[in-house]
Formats: sequence, structure tokens, C-alpha cells
Amino acid sequence: MIELLSSKFSSILDNLKTGNARYVAGELDVSRFSIERRRETFLEGQEPHALVVGCSDSRVPLELVLGQGIGDIFVVRTAGNLCGTFGLASLEFAVEVLHVPVLVVLGHTHCGAVKSAIDPPDFKADRIEELLYRIQPAVFETQRLFPTLTGDAFQHEAVRVNARASLEMIVKYSSLIRERIAEGRLFTTYAVLDIESGVIEWA
Ligand SMILES: [Zn+2]
Repeated sequence: MIELLSSKFSSILDNLKTGNARYVAGELDVSRFSIERRRETFLEGQEPHALVVGCSDSRVPLELVLGQGIGDIFVVRTAGNLCGTFGLASLEFAVEVLHVPVLVVLGHTHCGAVKSAIDPPDFKADRIEELLYRIQPAVFETQRLFPTLTGDAFQHEAVRVNARASLEMIVKYSSLIRERIAEGRLFTTYAVLDIESGVIEWA
């Protein structure tokens, strides 16, 4: 049983990796956006195979960077790829009702939210401060892990640490997600998209 589930998880991850390779090469599978595909998903309902938490950044269109189309992935996007209450609720819906078996948190290079957590902006906005406050532990962790790094290299590592921390927070704050992982019904991972090359580096 465990082996069967593992192969299911790995075939979904392979699909996402192959889709990303197409994106890197600039070759999108437009059939996934066809009128037929739209009709099929309308008539048969959605059965997405992956749940992706990504950043709101306009350079990170999740379906495209993962080579997916209509009905393929269930997404939550927020600045800094963090989940608050309703993001978590969306994940729980996807896991419990749609039985989505794979959850990926995707960070990206040159993320403005992570950059702002490293160098706070000079304007004030209540909710932005809250967001940066949530990202800052990942920045401190990056300083601890990579004390000699600075500039872009530091920011790159902070993005990776933040993606992992976001996944850890999701697991921490959702008992449902913890249960599904323990039952072997949900596989979780994190990754980082290089917005220049388009390449996704998986954990
Ligand atoms: Zn971002």
C-alpha cells in the first residue's frame, strides 16, 4: 500500500518536473488550455493532482511554470507564499474534499516579500507588517545557517528557507493536513523557482 502511494506521489512530481522542463524550454502544452479541456473539466468536475502554494508575484504564474493547465493544480497565492487563515482553509478543502495527494510550496528568486523581510520598506501598512513579521524567522534562520552570505546569495537562501518554513507552518496549523500526512495520503514538499531561467530547484 505504502509503495503504491509512493509511486503515485512520484508520478505526480515527475509530471510537475516535466511540465517545468517544458516551461524552461518555452514549450507550453496548449492542449491543457483547450476548449475540450475546459468542457471536460466543467462536465466531469475538477480532480487536480497537486496543490501549490506560490507567491502573488506576476512572474510566477503557477500553471505555466509547472506546465499545467485547466483542472490540473489547485493553487493558493499570497505575497511570500505564506498561508493565513483562508489560505489554510483552501488547502484543507483541497485535501479533504478534492483528495489532492501532493502539496508543494513554491518560493521564487528575487521575491519582494522576502526582500522586504530582510530590508523592511519605509512605508507602514498593518497587514504588510504582519506578513513580514511571519517571514522574519526564516531570515534569522538563514543568517544562522549562512553567516557569511550577503546580497543576492543571502536572499536566494532566505527564499528557500522561507518556502520550507511556510510548509512547516501549514503542517503546524492544520491538524487535518497533519493527519493526512501521517496516513500516507498526502505528500508535501517545497521548491524554489529561478525567475530568470525558469528552472525549479526541488527540495
Ligand atoms: Zn514573491
